[in-house]
Amino acid sequence: MKFFDGHNDILNKITNAGDHLDSRAFLERGDGHLDFPRACHAGFMGGFFAVYTSNPPSVPTAEERITLTDNGYLVSFPPPLEYEYAHQSALDMISLLEKIESDSGGNFKIVTSNQDLEYCLENEIMAAVLHLEGAEPILPSLENLSSFYEKGMRSLGITWSRQNKFGSGVPFQYPGSPDTGPGLTEEGKNLVKACNDLGILIDLAHLNEKGFWDAASLSTAPLVSTHTAAHGIIPKSRNLTDTQLKAIAETNGVVGVIFSVNDLDGESRPKKDAPILSIIHHIRYIADLIGPEHVAFGSDLDGTLIPSELGDVSGFPGLIQLLIEDGFSPSAMEQICYKNWLRVLKETWIS
Ligand SMILES: [Zn+2]
Repeated sequence: MKFFDGHNDILNKITNAGDHLDSRAFLERGDGHLDFPRACHAGFMGGFFAVYTSNPPSVPTAEERITLTDNGYLVSFPPPLEYEYAHQSALDMISLLEKIESDSGGNFKIVTSNQDLEYCLENEIMAAVLHLEGAEPILPSLENLSSFYEKGMRSLGITWSRQNKFGSGVPFQYPGSPDTGPGLTEEGKNLVKACNDLGILIDLAHLNEKGFWDAASLSTAPLVSTHTAAHGIIPKSRNLTDTQLKAIAETNGVVGVIFSVNDLDGESRPKKDAPILSIIHHIRYIADLIGPEHVAFGSDLDGTLIPSELGDVSGFPGLIQLLIEDGFSPSAMEQICYKNWLRVLKETWIS
């Protein structure tokens, strides 16, 4: 079965390797989680390609910022990103995505409208949604939002797990609530309204709970979290509570389930692996709570540690088989694998 995925970090991975125009690192077979040949073979129709800026090298790593507690851990926030740094980094990754498209021989396309998306699906062209993860490259005045729109950005996550001028993300904390700080700033609220006006999907992944509710009350589009797991299974700050999941369903929105081992299967200490069945548990939990029409894949390939049993994008067919064996009907499988993502994009984009 074909599938559409809510999140990957291949652009960040290639850019961090040193050459931000190295399209071959995606178009040819590589050794990470995701590349074009393995994705095609697995049935990857397309997905959200994140433009995500890593912390500058001067910032201590997450391993260096972690505090262990008796029953868990907390990774302190890195300092906010400087605008110039984030902006240049975003432009580099967008150039890479454009280079992948132009070097693909017509087999990969950045989709900016529902018409584009339908054309890609009909013609078996891999469809890429240009997603900005963390709004740091956007000026608080929003004066450059339209230039990102013109470059093809059709999805925007307000925060990563850090603070910015628009809102506050959730830290990596276990156990922990997503209610970790103040809500959206005035600039953040304006950003939500501006994205609604332009038809840019607003992604609530990694946003703290007050920010989530601020965005939920303002947005006129379906609520979406592109890559998150269920707090009802693993009480980590990054995961969504049942109340948040129900709010997403009420707007006909979608939650993409992340494959990150510590979000799926967290323990009192960070771990390196989790069973592939932990992905099934989160999808099943969310489907039982709010319906299979509101849950999808949000793998985070090349952005996180994923279950070794899944391995890489080639593991999707096996994962899909496990969902079938778990009892999902053929129509629920179509919803989870791609129809839910296509629906929210269709309802959100204005062209
Ligand atoms: Zn993320």
